[in-house]
Amino acid sequence: WFECEVEVPYEAVAMNFVINYYEHYDNNGGADFKAPLFLPASAPSLDAWQAGLAEALRQREVARRSEAARAAEERERRAEEKKRRAQELVKAVERRKVRHVLFTQPEVVPAGGEVTVHYCPRDTPLAGRQQLYLMGGWNRWSHRRSFGPIAMHPPGEGGEHWQATVQVPKDAFKMDFVFADVPGGEGVYDNRGGFDYHLPVEGSPIREQPLHICHIAVEMAPIAKVGGLGDVVTALGRAVQEQGHLVEVVLPRYDFFTHSPVLKDQLRFETEFEWGGTRVYVTTAVVENLRVFFIEPRNGFFATPTVYGRYDDEVRFDFFCKAALEFLLKTGRQPDILHCHDWSTAHVAAAYWRDYHPYGLHKPRVVFTIHNLNYGQKKIGEAAHACQKFTTVSPTYAFEVGANPVIAPHAHKFLGIRNGIDPELWSPEENPFLPQGYGPENVVEGKKAARQALRQRLGLTTWNDKFIVAVVSRLTGQKGVPLIKHAAFRTLDRGGQFVLLGSAPDPRVQADFDALAGQMGGQDAAFCFKYDEPLSHLIYAAADMVVVPSMFEPCGLTQMIAMRYGSVPIVRHTGGLRDTVFDVDFDKERAAWELYGSSDWRRDGIDATNGFAFTGTDAPALDYALNRAIDAWYNDRAWFQGLQRRVMEQDWSWNRPAIDYIELYFS
Ligand code: ADP
Repeated sequence: WFECEVEVPYEAVAMNFVINYYEHYDNNGGADFKAPLFLPASAPSLDAWQAGLAEALRQREVARRSEAARAAEERERRAEEKKRRAQELVKAVERRKVRHVLFTQPEVVPAGGEVTVHYCPRDTPLAGRQQLYLMGGWNRWSHRRSFGPIAMHPPGEGGEHWQATVQVPKDAFKMDFVFADVPGGEGVYDNRGGFDYHLPVEGSPIREQPLHICHIAVEMAPIAKVGGLGDVVTALGRAVQEQGHLVEVVLPRYDFFTHSPVLKDQLRFETEFEWGGTRVYVTTAVVENLRVFFIEPRNGFFATPTVYGRYDDEVRFDFFCKAALEFLLKTGRQPDILHCHDWSTAHVAAAYWRDYHPYGLHKPRVVFTIHNLNYGQKKIGEAAHACQKFTTVSPTYAFEVGANPVIAPHAHKFLGIRNGIDPELWSPEENPFLPQGYGPENVVEGKKAARQALRQRLGLTTWNDKFIVAVVSRLTGQKGVPLIKHAAFRTLDRGGQFVLLGSAPDPRVQADFDALAGQMGGQDAAFCFKYDEPLSHLIYAAADMVVVPSMFEPCGLTQMIAMRYGSVPIVRHTGGLRDTVFDVDFDKERAAWELYGSSDWRRDGIDATNGFAFTGTDAPALDYALNRAIDAWYNDRAWFQGLQRRVMEQDWSWNRPAIDYIELYFS
C-alpha cells in the first residue's frame, strides 16, 4: 500500500483522482477513480455544510466586487485627474493669449490692494493712438463701484506697453475693463470683441455666483438624437455644469421615450397646468447627469414616433417653445440664460421678449445657436434679431456665413465657438471595439493591431505593410463626393489601401459608389455602405490618414475623432476643419497661437501642427495635401509616427469650448 494525504476543500462533494509513475498511469481503465466525500468534521449536518459553503462563496464574491469597485474608482480618479489637468492647460493657454495684449503687476490682482495694468495695443483696434484710457468695474460689472476713464501713461523709450494703476475694492472677485482712445462716449474701443477684459481677483470674501442656464431644445443625445444638435446640447450642458454652473434642459416628451432604456423607471411627475387650449403635463428625469424636464401637452403634438417629419412641425415646435416658457414662468424659475437651438426652438427668443419678459419671467437673456443654416432661415433670422447673442459651431464657419442676409444685420452679436468631442466616448485607451487599447506612448503598436484586425475583417491583403487612408462620412454633396472618389484612386495609385464607411441617401450617388466599389474593391480597397458606429472606431484606429474634403463644414467631428485615434487628418480648409486642422507646412504660426497661446513658435520652439490641408475644390488641390502626407509616410516614417503621437495628445474635448460659452453667457 502506498499512501498520501490530500487536503480536501470545504466545498468538495466528491474526489476524482488518478495515480502515475513517470509516463505510466493508472486511471482505472479510463474512468478515473472516484470517492464520495463525507461531510467535513466541522459541519455537523448537511444544512450546516451548505450554509457554510454559501457563506464562503458569498465572501469571495464580496471581495471580488469590492476589488472591482476599487479598480473602477481608481480608473475614474485617473480620468478625473487627466481632465482636470486638461482644463488647467486650457486656462493657461487663455492667460498666455491675453498676456500677449496685457499683463498686471502684481500678476494676481489682490482684493483691497492696488494693481497696475500694462497694455500693448499693437494687435488691437487701438494700435497707433496718441492717448489711451482705461475704464472698468468689478464683479462682472455688478459692483456699485467703477473706475476711470483713467488716462494711461504712454510707453517709455523703446517700450510698447501703456500703463495705469487702479485701487481694488475688498469685495471684488473679478476685474472688468475696456480701453478707449477718448475718455468716454464716441471713439474707438478695445473691448475684446464685445466680451470685455476680465481678470480674476484673489482674496475676496465674496465668490462669483454660478450661472443658471436653461436649454430649450427638441433634440438631446442619447434619448432624442437626430444630428449634431442633440450631441451639443448634452455635451455642452455637461461641460458647463462641470465648471460649477446649474444647467437644465427642457425637451418635448415624444412617444418614442416609452421605449427608452435611459428613461425607463426614471420619469417623475413634476407639474401640470392648463395652457394653449390644452392640459400640459411636465415630467422630469436625469439624463447624462443633467436635469431634464419633458413637456407633454394632451393635444398629442409630440405623440410622434420621430422628432421631425410630421406635416405640422413648425406649429408643434412653436407651441413647444411657448409651453417651455410657460413652464418656467409657472414654476417661478428665473434662469440667467435661455439657450435655444436651430429653427426648431428659434421661436423662444421672440416669444420670451414679447410674451414673458414683461409678465414675470424677467431675468433671462437669450442665446441662440445655429447648428445648421440650411433649414428654416426665416425663423433663424427672427431669433437672430430677438436674442442677445447668437453663435454657430466654429469661428471660420461664422466668418463664412456672416454675410448671409439673415445674419449680416445682427453680425455684431454673432460669433463662432467650435464643438468638441467626448474623449470618453471616443477613447483609444479603453475601447471594446479595438483589439488592443493604446495611448500616445504606444500608438504605433496599437494602430498596428487595429490595422491587422480591420484588414482581416474587410478582406484586404494582410501580408504587406501598406498605409491605410480612410473616409467615414455621409456621402452627400456637402462632403465632397468627387474628391472622396479621387482620394480612393490616388491612394491605390500610391500603393496604399483605401477604406470607406459611408451611406448615401441619394440613390444616384450610391450607384456611383457601387460602380467604384465594383471597379476597385478587393485586395486594397473596401467600401462599406452602412451606418456602423462600432466599425467606425476600428477604422479610425487602423487608419494612418483620414480624408475630409468637405465643400462646407460647420464644425465637423470626423477630423477631431481621427486625431484622438492618432490618424492624421487631410482636410479641405473650410469651416470648422480650418479651426481644428493646422497644416504641417504652412500653419505653424496659427497652430502655436491657437493651441499654446504662443505668438512666436520659433522662439518658443513649438510645433503644434497636426495635419495636411488644401483649399481648392478640384482633384489637384486634394493631391497637393494627400501626396505630401503619403510622401512623408514613405520618406520619414519616424517623423510621421511622431506626428501621429502629437495629434493624439491634442485636446479636442469640450474643455475649451465650454469656457468660451461661459464667457459668452456672462457677457
Ligand atoms: P455631419 O454631422 O455633417 O455628418 P460630422 O463630421 O459633424 O458630420 O459628424 C459625422 C459623425 O458621424 C462622426 O461621428 C462620424 O464618425 C459619424 N459617421 C458618419 N458616417 C458614418 C457611418 N457610415 N457609420 C458610422 N459613423 C458614421
